[in-house]
This record gives sequence, C-alpha cells and structure tokens, in this order.
Amino acid sequence: MSQKKLYFFANWKMYLDYDESNILANGLAEEIKNKERNYEMTIFPNALSLQTTSQTLNDVGVNTGIQNGYWIDKGGYTGETSFIMAENVGCKYALVGHSERRHQFKETNHEVRIKLENILNNTRLTPVLCVGETQQERAEDKTLEVLEAQLRAAYDSLTWNKERDLIIAYEPVWAIGTGNACEPLDAQIQHERIKKIVNQLISDIKPIILYGGSVNAENSFDYLKQEDISGVLVGGASTKLESWLQIIKNAEKL
Ligand code: PEP
Repeated sequence: MSQKKLYFFANWKMYLDYDESNILANGLAEEIKNKERNYEMTIFPNALSLQTTSQTLNDVGVNTGIQNGYWIDKGGYTGETSFIMAENVGCKYALVGHSERRHQFKETNHEVRIKLENILNNTRLTPVLCVGETQQERAEDKTLEVLEAQLRAAYDSLTWNKERDLIIAYEPVWAIGTGNACEPLDAQIQHERIKKIVNQLISDIKPIILYGGSVNAENSFDYLKQEDISGVLVGGASTKLESWLQIIKNAEKL
C-alpha cells in the first residue's frame, strides 16, 4: 500500500434503512476484523443507525460519522440532531456542507460556517467539509470562484486546533450520483487549488483532500494515485460490500 496515508470514507446517505445498515456494518466488520490496515476508514450511516453501527464498527477500528447535524447542542429544534449527540454515540467525524444539503436543502455557506464552529468549539469530532461546483458553474468557468467562496466562508479567521485534521472533500456536484466522474487529472488540479486556498486561510496546516463523485471499483485507483488526492468519499459504491472492499483492495497497487 501507498506511502501516503489513505482515507476511505463511505457516505451511505439515505440508501440503507436500519436493518440494511446493520447488516452491511456487520458484514464489513467480519471482512476486515483481522486484517492489518494503515488507512483510515469512516462510515457515515443514517442518523438512526449511528449508535448500533458505531458499536459494531468502532470495535474493529472503523470510524463512524454523522452525515449532517445542527449547530446548537440541545433545545427546541424538532427533527434535528446535534453534533455532540453524534459524538456521544461513538462518532468521530461529521460531514458538513455535502452538496445534497447545499442544493436540495438550500444550506448556505453561512450555515456551513456555524456548523463548523459548533463542531470545533463544542465537540471532539473532525469535520469533513464538502465543496464543489455545479455543472453550470463549471460551464461558466466559475469553478475556482465557487471553491474559493466556499472555502473562505468556512475557514476565514477560524481558529483551528492543529491537533484536529483538516479534511475537505472535493465533490463536483455534477459528478455526484451521476456516473459522470471527474477526470482524475482534473480532480488533481482542483485539489491543488484547494490546498493553496486553504494554506492562505489557515497557516501551518496540511489539508487532507478527498475526491468524491461517482467513485467506484473501476476508477478509484486513478484518483488515489494523484499526488494531492489523499482518499475518496464514496456514496453509491460504498453501499455494496463487494465494491467497497474492492475500492480498498485497489489501493494495494499504489
Ligand atoms: C457522495 O454522496 O458524497 C458521493 C460522492 O456520491 P456518489 O459516490 O454516489 O457519487
């Protein structure tokens, strides 16, 4: 396996119900429990399955994370789950600003920022910030502008405790769930840009940047071999045990 530390993050979205999530978590735990590993694996199940999947997966060294959370710890916020509540059931990570949140649920850059602040100030979770441009923004040559705006809103003047990894997922909106993956060399260019912008916003930090958007067992290797791609955030292909295990196995060739 590669010299660089690799990150395999699985976003199960709302694809799997409680039983299906637990069956997949148990199957995964069974497959990897005695295998030596030098990569970081994190699963983001639906919120209802967080506690049970965390128990199963944390036991075998696999982390769990919440797909979305609210920026206040407790109170009259019907239907919400706070980040600290996720930490209390075993989570280590939190996705923030996933494109499905930004576009389907109209989450703004400001909301992304206050979620980040809550996570950093009130929890020990590591946030995974998702950024990426839409098809139209790319067609209008606005990719850099969009990435800069999302990153600036998230990190400008933010105090970062260097003990905590700074993780970003570059997920072009047009590549998510479409089968239309970004060319690996193109993704590498965007990762380089993201790294540069983050370094201007927060000093002395080495961002870990994952690629997400239609990653599967056939194309994952082409991303992982790029210099500034530290891992993958995978939706659909992570919800089937064989394809998820194959994505991990492909990295052995690095
Ligand atoms: C995602 O939801 O973060 C994602 C990358 O989805 P998919 O792999 O299905 O495109």
